[in-house]
Amino acid sequence: MSTTENLKLFYNRLSELYRLRCISALLDWDHQVYMPSGAAQARADQQEYFSITIHNKTVDPEFLRAVDELNDVRDSLELADQVNVREIKRQVDIERKLPEEFTAEFSQTSSLSYSAWVKARPENDFKAVQPYLEKLVRLNRRFCDLVGYEEHPYDALLDQHDPGLKTSVVKPLLTGLGEDLRRIIPQIAEKFEGLGELSGHFTQGSQHELCKKVAADLGFSFEIGRLDTTAHPFMTTLGPRDFRITTRYFEDNFLRALYGTIHESGHALYEMGLPTEYAGTPMGEAISSSIHESQSRIWENPVGRSREFCSYLSKLLPDYFHEEAKALDPEMLWRYANRVEPSLIRIEADEVTYCQHIVIRMLLEEPLVTGDLSVSDLPAAWNEHYEKYLGIRPPDMKDGVMQDVHWYGGSLGYFPSYALGNLYNAMMMEAAHASIPGLSTQIERGDFTSMLGWLRENVHRHGMRYRGPELIKNITGKELSAKAFVEYLKVKFLG
Ligand code: ZN
Repeated sequence: MSTTENLKLFYNRLSELYRLRCISALLDWDHQVYMPSGAAQARADQQEYFSITIHNKTVDPEFLRAVDELNDVRDSLELADQVNVREIKRQVDIERKLPEEFTAEFSQTSSLSYSAWVKARPENDFKAVQPYLEKLVRLNRRFCDLVGYEEHPYDALLDQHDPGLKTSVVKPLLTGLGEDLRRIIPQIAEKFEGLGELSGHFTQGSQHELCKKVAADLGFSFEIGRLDTTAHPFMTTLGPRDFRITTRYFEDNFLRALYGTIHESGHALYEMGLPTEYAGTPMGEAISSSIHESQSRIWENPVGRSREFCSYLSKLLPDYFHEEAKALDPEMLWRYANRVEPSLIRIEADEVTYCQHIVIRMLLEEPLVTGDLSVSDLPAAWNEHYEKYLGIRPPDMKDGVMQDVHWYGGSLGYFPSYALGNLYNAMMMEAAHASIPGLSTQIERGDFTSMLGWLRENVHRHGMRYRGPELIKNITGKELSAKAFVEYLKVKFLG
């Protein structure tokens, strides 16, 4: 077929797949936000139908032939087509290497393992999940062999979330970061000793209004988005003009819902800023999980936890919380929003200790994949790493090796992207400050337009055109490193 015909077939199929993915995402959003629990089985069947349909339409021989033929003439295509063909070729090449029996076994095991984890975690029962985890580790190893890798089996897993990422790059980068953080964490944590808890009662209704106000100020448009309530906050895209975020509320501490909202708004602002004309194709999609995390964290931390932002926030609070807000001057707010303290739970960790949780997980995942660490030795290795990197030891499995769902849901190789997100956002923030005069003053006024404009120009509008390390080099002229992040923490917390 001619290139023109191939391109037509290619884009028609991508657009069909995009519509299917959006409908499936809507089913999932409803599952997490509104669905009554009794509907679980029927919903699982509906979702299974969508994954099978999406898989079949992806490995359809006609489509694969078009992708291969377009890839052969890629250099002669227009830029957007080149990027789209490159990325889709990468994705279908993985998909076609996985036999159907493997995909079925993986999905079956992950789903059984997830249910076992949900039950076993509150009971602290690692033995109950151990056989599932052993099987999932074996399946992940098989995935690496099936998909193939140049240097290291773990690369095949990293590549799933961060195209092109290698163990030889990420391991020294994050272990080096871990050592730097070990040196500064005790000094920083000392500054927050004796800080009590927030006092007051913050009703859910008022918190919801405050969260909406802050999200809107950051640039989240409620004309094309919604904020709802779930047990686990997330962001999802349901169509080119439909972006959903969620948060959860604690009536004794409004900061948890607020910073969760800011984080998810950051993810949504990235999706809202992707070029709509390329929706449903890689040119209209996020680069990687790490860059997605950089976009949520840049708003949550360097912007949202700055002194200037706390000053903007303290002016807003009386409209929402009346009496309670009086005790919260900008300095107190800053202290509550920034409290640094080594703790057991990753998702609740502060900006400084957070990456240690990731370093630990990466250092355990990699030997699990190579077979140098067995699942039965995992809990002890987990505790030793917590002792080394954070100076604390989990008293049980629930808040130790069993705390995160990722491994028990079959996902290995995802964790590093959380830490890389922090490294990227620190480098971006440095560049944003250098190119936007008076950025801090704008943040203090609650004016985030230049900040968002800068991200749109430098990150969002490019879709998947560049890989993460290439993008950051274009923006800053520098290679991805932990330097800007560690410097930022030192300046912010140690003066
Ligand atoms: Zn996130």
